[in-house]
Amino acid sequence: MARRAAIVWFRRDLRLRDHPALRAALDSADRVVPVFCFDDSLLGGRHASGPRTQFMLECLAELDSDLRELGSGLVVRRGRPEREISDLAREIGAEEIHFSRDVSPFARQRGERTREAFEDIGLELHAHPGVNAIDDVGAPRTKSSDKPFTVFSPFHRTWVDIERRDVLRAPSSMPGLPSGLAKGRLPSLEALGLTQEVSDPARGGESEARKTYDRFLDGPIRDYSDNHDALGRDLTSRLSPYLHFGCLSARQIEERIPDGKGPAAFHRQICWRDFYSHVLVNFPRNARSEFQDRYRGNIKWSYAEKAFEKWCEGRTGFPLVDAGMRQLKAEGWMHNRARLVVGSFLTKDMGIDWRWGERWFMRMLIDGDEANNNGNWQWIASVGTDPAPAFRRLYNPQRHAERYDPNGTYVRRYVPELRDVPDEFIFAPHEMPDDVQREVGCVIGEDYPEQMLDHKAAREEALERLRV
Ligand code: FAD
Repeated sequence: MARRAAIVWFRRDLRLRDHPALRAALDSADRVVPVFCFDDSLLGGRHASGPRTQFMLECLAELDSDLRELGSGLVVRRGRPEREISDLAREIGAEEIHFSRDVSPFARQRGERTREAFEDIGLELHAHPGVNAIDDVGAPRTKSSDKPFTVFSPFHRTWVDIERRDVLRAPSSMPGLPSGLAKGRLPSLEALGLTQEVSDPARGGESEARKTYDRFLDGPIRDYSDNHDALGRDLTSRLSPYLHFGCLSARQIEERIPDGKGPAAFHRQICWRDFYSHVLVNFPRNARSEFQDRYRGNIKWSYAEKAFEKWCEGRTGFPLVDAGMRQLKAEGWMHNRARLVVGSFLTKDMGIDWRWGERWFMRMLIDGDEANNNGNWQWIASVGTDPAPAFRRLYNPQRHAERYDPNGTYVRRYVPELRDVPDEFIFAPHEMPDDVQREVGCVIGEDYPEQMLDHKAAREEALERLRV
């Protein structure tokens, strides 16, 4: 029998366990070459991010080392994939290419370009599931009108009953790389023209992903429904960066979710991820504009740069907003409850275009994900799918802090100048009498900013702005 050669093109699936594309290539060919291609149009594009790329480099380094242990290695190329991978295919005489299906508009556009190039050289293309919990995330349709879902709850009811594929084991060995093939080296972040902008990021890789999930399964998952909003306790899974790069698949996560109320609430969050993928596949225009027709081009957004900078820097004078934004700068990650509060503050109180917030998040977030980020920004700006009246998603930052960070633990952790502020003033430090300000070393206007706006007035303006 003729020896067949296949390429496995790794993208957002940087793992060996539960990898349908890798498994299929190994089943079909006796020479299998795993490749990752650094695509400058993605790395330097509108969603360029030093923190996320650094995390990805760590994932790739581990993937390479795991592949070497199995007798292979990760081939690295840099350039346009349609050219680099076509050249590689010619060089090794590959007949087939296997990859995991992706949903972002960028990935789909790139998919079109590469499909043509690969077909031109006679490569068979095989797209596999592996990124989402369900195999074909764009496919579900509403029972009533046979249309894509635009509301979460009915999507969730359909999603839980969709049959799942089995979770796959990692291969126990791999064919060696063809002799003489230039393997290529992983570049440094600097060589890619990017810088690490966060000081305390999570570490990338499949083993970190598994450890992170094990820790979550060991305790927090049981009471997830009660604790997932408790900002100071930090009891969510922190799996989002690993899910984004596929260090752990959504199916691997699902497979180990135990029974119970907390675990069921956690499983529902995994569904939100598939929901926003579903939305972006079916409404790719959302990537740049409002889902709701009536808002598209009709809202007078603000583009006040100085105010935006205060928000980015965590210097708004609203402790919970500032804590969230500073957590993002420190860790490249932010607690979901804080993401909601800073999102509401930017788009409602400040009236700034949600796309500015989306862009800043994509630059700083290690889990920055086009579908999830866009969907959530549109949600909190009240212009997207899963609609609700604007006032329901217009949060009072002080009330929110009292409810979700009652002891000020989260605020004190990320805004050190407020550390010694007495409990009664922790969420409204501008109300501290002058002598208390001096006593605790936090003089408003010097050590910590005045509130940049009046929430009550801003709320009225926001409701007016959205009444189009
Ligand atoms: P957990 O609470 O442990 O949830 C488990 C997983 O479920 C998450 O890892 C994530 O994959 C998924 N999930 C949870 N909540 C959501 C949600 N609301 N939407 C979609 N998936 C969800 N999440 C991203 O992964 N990437 C983003 O770029 C992103 N941008 C956001 C922007 C805004 C304005 C808001 C409000 C939320 C955003 N989220 C984003 C969703 C959510 O905040 C994060 O997924 C969550 O905080 C990650 O922490 P965790 O892994 O501990 O979550």
